[in-house]
Amino acid sequence: HKIIVWFRQDLRLLDNPAMYEASQDGVIIPVYIKEDQIGSASAWWLDLSLRSFKEKLDSLGANLILKKGNPHQVLKELASRTGATAVYFNNRYEPHHLENDKILITELKEHGVHVNTFHTNLLFEPGSIRNKQGNPYKVFTSFWKTCKQIPVQAPLPVPANINWDENKIESCKLEELELVSATNWHQKLEQYWEPGEDATLKKWRTFAEVDIHDYLTYRNDPVLDATSLLSPHLAFGEISPRLIWHESKELEELSEIENLNEEQQESVEGFLRQLVWRDFAYHQLVDFPHIVDKPLQQAYLSFPWNKVEEDTLEAWKKGQTGYPLIDAGMRELWETGWMHNRVRMVVGSFLVKHLLYHWKEGSAWFEDTLVDADLANNTMGWQWVAGTGFDSSPFFRIFNPIKQAERFDPDGTYIKKWLPELRLLPGKYLVEPWKAPTEILENANIKIGVDYPEPIVEHDFARKRALSAYQQMKEEN
Ligand code: FAD
Repeated sequence: HKIIVWFRQDLRLLDNPAMYEASQDGVIIPVYIKEDQIGSASAWWLDLSLRSFKEKLDSLGANLILKKGNPHQVLKELASRTGATAVYFNNRYEPHHLENDKILITELKEHGVHVNTFHTNLLFEPGSIRNKQGNPYKVFTSFWKTCKQIPVQAPLPVPANINWDENKIESCKLEELELVSATNWHQKLEQYWEPGEDATLKKWRTFAEVDIHDYLTYRNDPVLDATSLLSPHLAFGEISPRLIWHESKELEELSEIENLNEEQQESVEGFLRQLVWRDFAYHQLVDFPHIVDKPLQQAYLSFPWNKVEEDTLEAWKKGQTGYPLIDAGMRELWETGWMHNRVRMVVGSFLVKHLLYHWKEGSAWFEDTLVDADLANNTMGWQWVAGTGFDSSPFFRIFNPIKQAERFDPDGTYIKKWLPELRLLPGKYLVEPWKAPTEILENANIKIGVDYPEPIVEHDFARKRALSAYQQMKEEN
């Protein structure tokens, strides 16, 4: 019988249980439906990822049907027109998707269409990792310790034989999905990223062969690209986390016998631990769906955030705050659609604590500009930064953007890479250019306030203001 396989955040053939099981059970009609509005960088990614996936299916003799609109309607119509008796898909976990899927399953059943859903995009199904009392974990280390004890299901292979339906159902052209906007901001992203399953597997295996053993040594260095850079590929499901997990475990066994130092031996585990943060984020999102726009910790509901001034917010977004590390990070994001994790924490802290803006301002900008924008990870990241989530950096710990630059970019390579206007400034002034003597600034061709901005807020003042806002919130609770 005919089965519609609805591809969503799983644009891959490897470890794709919806497709695998459908191939065992019948003839497949593959479909992708463009639904909600997504961020600009994600839309750019999706366009290329879909292109690559469609070509891959073409080469296997399958016609990926592209549609837009309400999936309930599209799937019902498609089932009626093709005579399909079932729809298979892999689960998504964003609150609005969970809600929609529930309704969809009932509607399709009423329409006489059977639905089969599968788990694959996370290592552990949300709700499955619980403490001894059966409650959600609030501390990551305990969550991780439990995860380590639980076997992760092995990834499924690409099915050996797939029977594709030979229907002539009309499909939208990729351009008709209107994923890429009229602005050409995204064009520069092409030099940094290659979406699609094949490119992803290659990237993962290169990382696994070469860099994974040095992960713990260099992961906090923003210049080195020493992390896997897999986040957008994971967000679009171009690679399965279960495949990463199992291939990493094989490496771990090898690394015990190879000639590696202690830190290198622990690096594979360090990398997997980081991957499990993603599962922690999804567990939180499903258990506490209100965190998408409300603080996880109730007390912060009354936090006295500043009213947003558009110029100031714009200065943060475009990397014009006058603090070089913040500006380098924000320009890296604007240029590449990605930012190093350490720098995400510092720019986030600056927005929330130095400017006292609600973290939603930051998460919205990230959602629009990150190629790896992911509701669970982004929400947890921002709640961590703001001190409002579980196991977060407490609000009263305020990153000093100057000290953070000295610590994580000691020779200024990262700053100079993204702020070319400061490249002639001697190292010691790179973190606080406004303190450089006039002569040094002249020699470096910089006029503060003209070529590079004055700090938009003074650090000590901002720190005191943030602490007093925090105090005010505490007194009200
Ligand atoms: P690696 O270090 O190679 O880690 C491997 C994978 O593990 C990542 O691809 C990612 O899927 C997962 N991972 C690693 N660190 C984290 C983490 N702290 N939280 C959750 N998962 C993690 N990540 C996103 O994928 N999407 C987001 O929208 C996002 N927004 C963030 C916002 C803020 C304010 C902060 C502080 C962090 C955010 N992160 C987000 C988490 C993290 O910064 C990125 O996952 C990481 O930088 C991606 O780079 P990588 O693939 O090289 O990571």
